[in-house]
Amino acid sequence: MPVHLLQPPFFQNPSLRVTRRRLLAWFAKYARDLPWRHTRDPYAIWVAEVMLQQTQVAAVIPYYGKFLAAFPSIAALAGAKEQDVLRLWQGLGYYRRARDLYHAARALCTTHGGELPDDAEALGRLPGLGRYTVNAILSQAFHRPVPILETNSVRVLCRLLGVRDDPKKSVVRRRLWQASEALVPVHAPGQFNQALMELGALICTPAQPACGECPLARHCEARRTGTVQEIPRTSRSARIEEVDEVALALRKDTRMLLVQRPPAGRWANMWELPHGHLKKNETHKRGAKRLLKALGFTGNPGGRIAAVRHTVTRFRITLNCMAVERPRGRFCAGLYVRARWLTPSDMHGYPISTPQRRLIKMLGERKRLSKSG
Ligand code: SF4
Repeated sequence: MPVHLLQPPFFQNPSLRVTRRRLLAWFAKYARDLPWRHTRDPYAIWVAEVMLQQTQVAAVIPYYGKFLAAFPSIAALAGAKEQDVLRLWQGLGYYRRARDLYHAARALCTTHGGELPDDAEALGRLPGLGRYTVNAILSQAFHRPVPILETNSVRVLCRLLGVRDDPKKSVVRRRLWQASEALVPVHAPGQFNQALMELGALICTPAQPACGECPLARHCEARRTGTVQEIPRTSRSARIEEVDEVALALRKDTRMLLVQRPPAGRWANMWELPHGHLKKNETHKRGAKRLLKALGFTGNPGGRIAAVRHTVTRFRITLNCMAVERPRGRFCAGLYVRARWLTPSDMHGYPISTPQRRLIKMLGERKRLSKSG
């Protein structure tokens, strides 16, 4: 950790004042016009913050408007069915966020009359609200001078302060929180926090920061020492692993079996075609038979009829789909909690992940082609 972190001259009062002023002036002039920047409603700010976690701004915009139109208040969200909330979130990914948002809304209706409290501790007890989200809400909705730290602000602060160590280390992280805390002004803390993140998103970008256009260039340690490209230090990313999975299209006439995942774990409570990992050296056909049996059916899986590739964290997954026509037996819960035989149009009403939706669409197109051929 460099000794100058949190030490003068950067953190002397005159420098701090200039830094804040410059950053706020830059933000007033160049900030993107984003829908959540037009509201002071704590709930709408909260929804935006949750949607923006690990998701690009452009992907969030269409979901944000639709979500608030469907659930305009905490009470409306709390009164909805979880399946409807997941369905509206469909395609945005990281569905845990939607479930946490929903359960937090229900908790708020019980404990705080359906309002977000202006209280860090109470907010921090809600599902899905970590220090960043709590402080983003407090600073933007309640004008509390509390710091934020996320990917963009970490990069800006590391470069500004010349932090060469890995920001993922807890000791570095702690110091960065302190730095962010020292920076955030009493006046316009929400604007300032957004400005810090916006600078990281537009100017102080990971690969080609536009230092020539940066309002903080004169204060930047990385620029002064010519280390911009080396900061922030990133740990080597984990190796990508290829994973082969088998999925089953169990069919009875025009209907296909859709199953619901258990209430915990990845894609909890969402619906999908049954699927699972292949064991070592297992063929697709054997894997399909094993899965079929675990679901309570017998039948004869044909060859692969479709495949979808997608990535989950460091796993690159190939979903190999095999059809089983008119399987015998009855669904038994275990791997999945419930099952329904549905036509493709019935499936629109169910929350289904993007790769699974792609697979179902492919199967529909394949069927149409085979009919027309
Ligand atoms: S001068 Fe360059 S490296 Fe420093 S904060 Fe600005 S954009 Fe980032």
